[in-house]
Amino acid sequence: MTITSNYAKPADSTKCPRGGKRSSKLLRISFNSCTSATDLSQPGRKLRSKASRLRYAGRTYITEVRHAPDILKPRLTFTASRFIVDNPESTSIQPDALMPLLEQFYRKRAHEKLLVRVRHWQRETGLQATGARIRHFQSRWASCDTNNTLEFHPRIMELPASVQDYVIVHELCHTVEKNHTKAFWAFVSSHMPD
Ligand SMILES: [Zn+2]
Repeated sequence: MTITSNYAKPADSTKCPRGGKRSSKLLRISFNSCTSATDLSQPGRKLRSKASRLRYAGRTYITEVRHAPDILKPRLTFTASRFIVDNPESTSIQPDALMPLLEQFYRKRAHEKLLVRVRHWQRETGLQATGARIRHFQSRWASCDTNNTLEFHPRIMELPASVQDYVIVHELCHTVEKNHTKAFWAFVSSHMPD
């Protein structure tokens, strides 16, 4: 069984707002490659009970769909290292119904964990953003705007914590240097070797 998604799949899902040709660890990460383990690229398949998995923080977790006729709307919970989907309709769920629930989960975890990491890296690097928030982008993981406000896509919570940290440091470095210049990459490296 596979989990599928109707997420738009941007051609260049990692671009920063100001572009730049030089690649980096971050720039090679795309929604497609990051979700391949959950077969998000195969459209039209339902998620059924027991055999499916969803991605969170760089790992995939068994996902069980339970028939729950006494609730009104499908519900997703993460407990004891597995995802549980309670669905009033049946023991399977369509991607269209599942993905908003998953994004809601990521959004909540991003508020609980990612924004804490942003504060950690601000202390660690001495770089200060005006603010940080979670937002659904069409085509990128994160951005730093002209006011130095950082924004992160909820689906960043799919990625391993080390990659989340890299994205945070990358965006914090944009508070000082907006473009992907040689100096920018040297600055990123100085704050986060390898
Ligand atoms: Zn960038």
